[in-house]
Amino acid sequence: MSTSEFSGKTALVTGAAQGIGAACAAALAGSGVAKVVLVDLDGATLEAMDLPCEVVRVAGDVTDEALWARVEQACGTLDCAVLNAGIAGTPALLSDMSYEDWRRVVSVNLDGLFLSLRSTMKLAAKGAGVVLTASVAGVKAEPGTGPYGASKAAVLHLAKIAAKEGARRRIRVNAIAPGGVDTAIWDAVPMFSDLVEKHQGDRAGALEEMASYATPMGRFQSPEEIAAQVLFLLSDAAGTITGTALVTDGGYSL
Ligand code: NAD
Repeated sequence: MSTSEFSGKTALVTGAAQGIGAACAAALAGSGVAKVVLVDLDGATLEAMDLPCEVVRVAGDVTDEALWARVEQACGTLDCAVLNAGIAGTPALLSDMSYEDWRRVVSVNLDGLFLSLRSTMKLAAKGAGVVLTASVAGVKAEPGTGPYGASKAAVLHLAKIAAKEGARRRIRVNAIAPGGVDTAIWDAVPMFSDLVEKHQGDRAGALEEMASYATPMGRFQSPEEIAAQVLFLLSDAAGTITGTALVTDGGYSL
């Protein structure tokens, strides 16, 4: 993949302050985009991010409709977008799940994604590339993942709808569906915290044990690996790929 194809372009990344979003922002900036618009709840971390291109930081909640007027103004037109902000929520069986917990996850992962996608489809230039961060949890059903799995399955379907709506303008919309990625999102998952405790604080050991349960390749991925795959989907090499889900999970879903 030639890196210069991103030169001069404007990119939007949500959930950009850490994890997969931060890795995507760094990869885009490193590949020559002229301007990145970074959106995250964590304005302080956005402020501290140093990238080799023009950086516009918009602190706020992707579920806040008013935020999107500010983002639209900051972007102008868009050539690339990585709509990635999401939360895992607290795992619970459907029979035990509070409506509040359900709403919280669906609100960020689906309502927030809708608002992000609406603005993106409005601003996208002809030939733009868009990637939505879904999850393998939206492909493979697991107990305790109700609102997360259902919202991510909806994201996979929204990618297809947006792909059809954007096709005449040559706007490509794809989803990426990662399995376990080593980011802070896991710190809020009680099962993972228990494993870290069992491994006496050794996070790498806990990740290895997690991966050994159900991932044939036996490892988690890094945010940088996911970012490289997102850049492929945004690149000219993926020029006829639209409406697909790239499942990247070390075989977890097989
Ligand atoms: P992370 O917690 O490290 O980063 C998420 C970022 O999104 C944070 O900076 C957070 O502040 C921001 N964010 C959360 N809610 C927001 C909101 N309402 N408005 C604005 N910003 C918000 O997590 P991550 O692992 O990098 O996750 C990124 C995406 O990848 C999520 O959509 C997640 O569901 C998905 N994903 C992660 C994994 C994994 O194993 N880490 C696997 C599959 C999918």
